[in-house]
Amino acid sequence: MKVKRFALVAAFLLTTFAAVAQQAPVEPSATVLQKHVSYLASDELDGRRTGTKGANDAARYIAAEFERLGIRAAPATDSWKINVMSARYLQTFPYIGRVELGKNNVLSVRGEALRVGEDWMPLGISANRTLDLTGVVFAGYGITANELNYNDYKGTYSKIQVAVIQEGTPDGDNPHGKFTNAGQLRFKVAAAQSAGVGALLIISSEEDLKNDSLARLHYDNAGLAGIPVAVISKQAAEKLANAKDVKLTTDVVRVEVAAHNVVGVIEGSDPVLKNENIVIGAHYDHLGRGGEGSLAERPGEIHHGADDNASGTAGVLELARIFSAQRSKLKRTLVFIAFSGEEEGLLGSNYYVNHPLVPLDKTVAMINMDMIGRMKDGKLAIGGVGTAKEWRQLIGTGETFALTLNEDGYGPSDHASFYMKQVPVLFFFTGNHSDYHKPSDTFDKINYNDEARILTMVARIVRDIDTADQRLTFTTAKADPPRGGGFRVYLGTIPNYADTTDGLLLDGVRDDSPAAKAGLKAGDRIVKIGNRDVKNVYDYTYALGEMKAGQEYVFELIGGGEKLTLKVTPEARK
Ligand SMILES: [Zn+2]
Repeated sequence: MKVKRFALVAAFLLTTFAAVAQQAPVEPSATVLQKHVSYLASDELDGRRTGTKGANDAARYIAAEFERLGIRAAPATDSWKINVMSARYLQTFPYIGRVELGKNNVLSVRGEALRVGEDWMPLGISANRTLDLTGVVFAGYGITANELNYNDYKGTYSKIQVAVIQEGTPDGDNPHGKFTNAGQLRFKVAAAQSAGVGALLIISSEEDLKNDSLARLHYDNAGLAGIPVAVISKQAAEKLANAKDVKLTTDVVRVEVAAHNVVGVIEGSDPVLKNENIVIGAHYDHLGRGGEGSLAERPGEIHHGADDNASGTAGVLELARIFSAQRSKLKRTLVFIAFSGEEEGLLGSNYYVNHPLVPLDKTVAMINMDMIGRMKDGKLAIGGVGTAKEWRQLIGTGETFALTLNEDGYGPSDHASFYMKQVPVLFFFTGNHSDYHKPSDTFDKINYNDEARILTMVARIVRDIDTADQRLTFTTAKADPPRGGGFRVYLGTIPNYADTTDGLLLDGVRDDSPAAKAGLKAGDRIVKIGNRDVKNVYDYTYALGEMKAGQEYVFELIGGGEKLTLKVTPEARK
């Protein structure tokens, strides 16, 4: 009674505010979207590269918006930083943000020490080793590519030899040349490992080593090479000719910095259904000043990432605003997540699904928005429609959009992390464009009105999932045809791109695939194929490129804590 009277008085006092609140639009607003995108994609945030101040400022902005909307942080867990107020919404995950030279880098030829930083420089991905090398192998560009019938390693080699190769490819710098793929640094490293040499030295194409991007200590968070890898100057390379006494010690220090997902929760109001949750997510990180993943012509410029993915992040914030205004109508719990580390390989979402802040088996759906700001002619792609029985019906006619529906739940964005854990997913995407991964992806090019229309549709779908008595029925999606991977063989393995421990961790194996038939399972870690060591996803991809359909290969793997050997016979790609 008392409470009720108090409520009445309060209601009376608050009439004016309530009237304002009721008038406040709860429809997605192009103006609000523009406000968010223009800040997130501003010069101030410096391209939001994971682990940098720009990304952390973006995280703080998103957390402040959650707080302003009255959205609470998820319950504290071990991985939760509760000691700092501003960190309340942040889920911190480990990330290598910086690479430094250790104290013990040595490269000497016939007793003459070469200067680190001037004559040679280990790479950020280099293994740390001390080696006595008694032979030098000059191996052209260091490329081996079965599909091109090209092989720079013709002999048999041993671990006491060092391969010395040229930077670049026989095609020069042609970005559309046939060596674009096989000529990538990571595949050159895999080729050297596979040939059996103990270390790889890459001759710089620059006159001054310091101008070579390889000499800028950098790490892509994609796993260490299995051998020492360094770049050397042209002058130093000459000294290596016929050398029988090369001493090499590599000492690279990879410094972990904190990276953050930002997570906010609106609790459902149904006493039972509130235990289930719907995740609405988008990544907020981008490419910073370029580097790994950039398609810019010049290095060093700010990659604004307005479409990729300030647009999706603004979408998460708008949906958070809309649903926080209607929270009493929600049955289930909504979890809003802005992910980091996406551009480096879905690192943030991968961390979340392995350290969920609300129970993942109660996550009934994950909605991902990545690049939803450049709608043209009403075209909208929705991925993941094969991941729940009900999706097609829920999507319906797609309002007034020209929809392209894709079945697959895997794909190049954070929904894939959830699909791997058997969560039904939808992925909203307005398509690629010429500003993709370039500094020119700026806020003025975003189509805010159509983004607002997309969010109206997403909100409608979320409401439909939320109010349904039954949760969605998870289904395994049919795979899309592979996108120009160039492989002639098919295995059906789904690699984990975020894991960087030795070997190749499998997130899944497609049904009825050669991998499934051989007995490979999610959670297995492949460490060797034939006589090739597999240290990371690049080594694995390289090995795949060298395989022939119908031939049997011995896979060494660690599964369930045990070392296993399985025989796998890849099929020809259809
Ligand atoms: Zn991107």
